Amino acid sequence: MKITHIEHIGIAVESIDEAIPFYEKVLGLKCYKVEEIEDQKVKTAFFMVGQTKIELLESTSPDGPIGKFIEKKGPGIHHLAFAVDNTNESLNELDKKGIRLIDKEGRKGAEGLNIGFVHPKSTLGVLTEICSCD
Ligand code: ZN
Repeated sequence: MKITHIEHIGIAVESIDEAIPFYEKVLGLKCYKVEEIEDQKVKTAFFMVGQTKIELLESTSPDGPIGKFIEKKGPGIHHLAFAVDNTNESLNELDKKGIRLIDKEGRKGAEGLNIGFVHPKSTLGVLTEICSCD
C-alpha cells in the first residue's frame, strides 16, 4: 500500500453553518462545497489547504456516526484520511496483516472517492480512512 498524502482531516462539528465562518473569516480558507451524504447521515463542508482538505462533518440525525461521536466526545477531530493508489487493494493488504477493518471493501464517499475505514482499535486510537480516486 502506498500512501501519497493526507487527503483530508475530518472534523465533527455541531453545525456547519456556525463552523464555516470560523474557517473563512478567521483562518481565511474558502468553503468550496457543501455536500450531504445521506447513507452516512452527514452534511459535509470542504476547504482546501494545499493538497489536503478539511472536511467538516455535521450529523443530520442523532443516531448517525457523527451524532454518536459528538454525544460521546464532543466536537473535534474525528478521523484522518490517507490518499492511496487503490483503496480495495490497500484494504486487502491491511486485512491480511490482521488489522481490524470497518470496511472490508471500498464504498463511495464524499467527493466521489472510493473510501474505507480502519478500526481505531487497530490504529492506536485514530479512526483512519483510506481513499482513492478509482
Ligand atoms: Zn473522511
